[in-house]
Amino acid sequence: ELESWQRELRAQFPIVVDHPALVYLDSAATAQKPRAVLDAVQRYLTTSNANAGRGAYPWANATTALVEDARERVKRFLGDPAPDRSSVHFTSGTSEGLRTVARDWLPELLSDGDEIVVPHRDHEANLSPWLEARDLLARRGIGVRVRELPYQEASGDYDPVELARITGPRTRFVAATHVHHVYGADMNVHRLRRVVGPDVPICLDAAQSVGHLPVAVGDLDVDFVVFSGHKALALPGTGAVWARQRRGPEFRPGGWRGTPNTVGIASLVAALDWLEAAGTDRIERWTVALTGLLTDGLSRMADAYEVLGCRTSLTADSPVQRRRSLVTFRHRAIDAHDLGFVLFDHGFMVRSDGHCQAGRDRRDDSVRVSLHVHNTPEEMERLLAVLASLQ
Ligand code: PMP
Repeated sequence: ELESWQRELRAQFPIVVDHPALVYLDSAATAQKPRAVLDAVQRYLTTSNANAGRGAYPWANATTALVEDARERVKRFLGDPAPDRSSVHFTSGTSEGLRTVARDWLPELLSDGDEIVVPHRDHEANLSPWLEARDLLARRGIGVRVRELPYQEASGDYDPVELARITGPRTRFVAATHVHHVYGADMNVHRLRRVVGPDVPICLDAAQSVGHLPVAVGDLDVDFVVFSGHKALALPGTGAVWARQRRGPEFRPGGWRGTPNTVGIASLVAALDWLEAAGTDRIERWTVALTGLLTDGLSRMADAYEVLGCRTSLTADSPVQRRRSLVTFRHRAIDAHDLGFVLFDHGFMVRSDGHCQAGRDRRDDSVRVSLHVHNTPEEMERLLAVLASLQ
């Protein structure tokens, strides 16, 4: 049943269907687009392209309405139970979204002596904005301490002992990630909330979760959800910040008052419609099953390959994570870049570098295979066969 559902969806990705010899395995960098998204772009540009909030004629009004409706669409997609008390700000992606929170909201929250918690060795985009906010406040004579929250390879999650150790009454803000972009782990945001208590705002980098699994803000008690539209099947240059106006100052992003990316926003609405119709729960089941094939296969070649993140078996309190839609690994003898070239010789398009992870050096480079709903078990088997031949 899942197979026929998937076949139907795969057939809706023109770039996939048109390149049968190639296998796209870099959806964590940016996703391919289904026909419905391409059609929405064409439709918008050929029926009502104009600037938003500018004119008194139908196309301008339609574009203004498109942007306003898109905010409501994002709230609905995120299962927002109180949409009248939240806001949505469109950005070019997660990096700009996190920067906007760090620049336009965080400084107002913090006072001298406060501490903020940020993820250690996570994506650069979820580290540098917070450090810049700290430095900006320091120039104003406000001292804020940044505590780095370590990832624990054993559990594939933030280290709970360290988390308890570095948080306390001075903790005023936490930046966290929903799904890790190298390890593919779901970062247990519920536990994070339990440990920091009910009053600390949490900003969630959802770049690798939105579009891949249900992300429901009624369930996740966080204050910001930041994501990239382009990783969620919309056009490049799209993204959004969803903000709950409950803890801390009101979120009033000030940076950008120019022409919004109206085409991108039209594509985002279509992408979210498509994902919702497809079912993010089923997309999650499908891609988790595929990463399971991959990690199982790689674990049978453990002499040659090392899979990064969440290594050993664990206790009931922190069970071993199934990886979400991505798996990152290293060949013990072949350089990651060389392995990337070899894989492309066989038609596989993977990411082979440091994945913008903070604090990495080139010797740590690795190959990341990241999936979306168009990928298939056959592709995983073919990839594993090539990897097996390189043992
Ligand atoms: N955070 C995470 C976890 C990511 O995976 C990425 C993209 N690789 C980003 C942030 C940056 O996203 P964007 O390029 O859309 O700004």
